[in-house]
Amino acid sequence: MEQQKRNQNMAEEHEESEEMQHGPFPVEQLQASGIASLDVKKLKDAGLCTVESVAYSPRKDLLQIKGITSKLVPMGFTSASQLHAQRLEIIQITSGSRELDKILEGGIETGSITEIYGEFRSGKTQLCHTLCVTCQLPLDQGGGEGKAMYIDAEGTFRPQRLLQIADRFGLNGADVLENVAYARAYNTDHQSRLLLEAASMMVETRFALMIVDSATALYRTDFSGRGELSARQMHLAKFLRSLQKLADVFGVAVVITNQVVAQVDGSAIFAGPQIKPIGGNIMAHASTTRLALRKGRGEERICKIISSPCLAEAEARFQISADGVTDAKD
Ligand code: ATP
Ligand code: MG
Repeated sequence: MEQQKRNQNMAEEHEESEEMQHGPFPVEQLQASGIASLDVKKLKDAGLCTVESVAYSPRKDLLQIKGITSKLVPMGFTSASQLHAQRLEIIQITSGSRELDKILEGGIETGSITEIYGEFRSGKTQLCHTLCVTCQLPLDQGGGEGKAMYIDAEGTFRPQRLLQIADRFGLNGADVLENVAYARAYNTDHQSRLLLEAASMMVETRFALMIVDSATALYRTDFSGRGELSARQMHLAKFLRSLQKLADVFGVAVVITNQVVAQVDGSAIFAGPQIKPIGGNIMAHASTTRLALRKGRGEERICKIISSPCLAEAEARFQISADGVTDAKD
């Protein structure tokens, strides 16, 4: 009788510990699956700090890590119902505007890349600032209960704005600033390297948001002319893939901003100058959700969903105010 009770307790404890296991798992756990400790160290040195980052890496890339000896195989199929359950866990981070959240079905999605493009002063940076604050809110207030990371390629990040926005949401300004990890990126190689540091910080602490403002600015200055176009696109593709990996492994919402250029083709003759985001197909395919911002009257801005796997093409009006992104006031 006693033994039976003990067994039952053990089974319950086991179930509980299984339930409590959430990824991302530190890469050291691979040792339990027979991966040599030396290989685990090599994986870590290559910037792969979690089991998930190893699982999502192409086998070819893993085998290129110098001296790796273990057999590393990628993950296989999963059922659609399992995937559905996982997708139900995805949280959305409020944009600060209810109208905008409505078309986004809650806000900016975690676990994928959202690209925000638009001409200068259209509100890209302001939306990023607002998200840095709202991602820290509790889940029931549209937050992500996590820290924010901000890669600034344009030098337009202003902590002062975060304090103003924090006030609006009743958050302590000093805490909000403490929860935003900031890095200025100086060139495209540096910008890419920052992602390695980002991954190791994300293993330690829960981040809900990763911002790159803008993802493409440094590519325009580091690579010039047609001759460097293919090198530029390859570099950009690699950078975006690393960002996608952060979204997959750590479940952060990745938000990147993008500049626009005037479209030079026949349509301009009939419809006036059109704008298009830079980065071509590489950029278009890397971002799961694409949002286009444009100016309205005064401080009013319009956001249009350009592409998304599950949202309808729709437009919403919002406003930029001292409190960050808010609903448009009529
Ligand atoms: P760029 O392409 O130049 O980076 P952007 O799309 O990032 O442009 P933002 O910097 O997000 O543009 O938006 C600038 C707009 O935000 C300006 O119109 C400015 O008036 C408004 N803005 C900035 N700070 C405040 C504030 N404290 N109160 C009200 N509006 C503000
Ligand atoms: Mg900006």
